[in-house]
Amino acid sequence: MFELFKIGFLTVTFLDVVDILIVSFIVYKLYILLRGTIAAQIFLGLMIIFMISFIAEAMQFKALNWLLKLVTSIWVIAFVILFQPEIRRLLVILARNPVMKIFGKHDMNESAEIIVDATFELSQRQYGALIVIIRETGIRTYIESGEALGAKLSKSLLTSIFFPKSSLHDGAAIVKGNVVEAARCTLPLSATTQVDGENLGMRHRAGLGISEQADVISVIVSEETGGISIAENGRLSSGLSKDSLRKKLKEAFVTPTPKGWKALFEQFKGHKE
Ligand code: ATP
Ligand code: MG
Repeated sequence: MFELFKIGFLTVTFLDVVDILIVSFIVYKLYILLRGTIAAQIFLGLMIIFMISFIAEAMQFKALNWLLKLVTSIWVIAFVILFQPEIRRLLVILARNPVMKIFGKHDMNESAEIIVDATFELSQRQYGALIVIIRETGIRTYIESGEALGAKLSKSLLTSIFFPKSSLHDGAAIVKGNVVEAARCTLPLSATTQVDGENLGMRHRAGLGISEQADVISVIVSEETGGISIAENGRLSSGLSKDSLRKKLKEAFVTPTPKGWKALFEQFKGHKE
């Protein structure tokens, strides 16, 4: 059908060309999405195996084909393991429930104000701080990695936690609604080590890391510079002013989650641009 030309034993039809174009487009988009991550290298490896198995199929190399088929069945499992952070991230984004946001709205406005004030005080005193604000999805494992507090959120509580001689100052404080759930929590480190040419220290990588894996916002105060950053959906914005911090926090809690595939794609892409 719609025969175009022949290469040796291969007959190329119009449909084949369209087919190849579609596959190339998908592969290209996936590559752009993953570029610069470790997943990209794995992805390239997978593509090479795909090519070999395609050739083996076409040339009818039976033994090679058998071997590759065997590997294919392992791929599915390998894929889930290798891309576990990406898959988890996608599921978290998919599971977001806009209804919850409406209920949490009033509460979070007040909490956002308290967190902004505390963050600015910490920044002025140049105390390092890492505050993780949970939106909807719980992050129990990480809460349990620290010291459970369950205390009412207040500016003085946050500044005392991060007072450098306080026994709770190390690690992250986790806030949900108007409660400080825990302090001294250990968070997963992001694989990203640089943003805009600046090296990221552990505190910033931990804040970024949790924002890649869960539906949270991390507020980070640098001990070295007093600079304030926010991490959300795997994106880090640094050097925030009081107004922009307030705006970002309120937006994050009050604005409904963007809808549609484009928004989903944007969020999933996160820092990987
Ligand atoms: P700063 O600008 O404040 O120096 P930084 O990003 O350069 O921040 P480091 O200097 O490496 O980070 O800060 C180390 C601090 O980061 C530790 O004292 C600890 O409180 C915190 N930290 C390190 N790793 C983690 C982690 N996995 N989870 C939570 N907090 C962490
Ligand atoms: Mg440092």
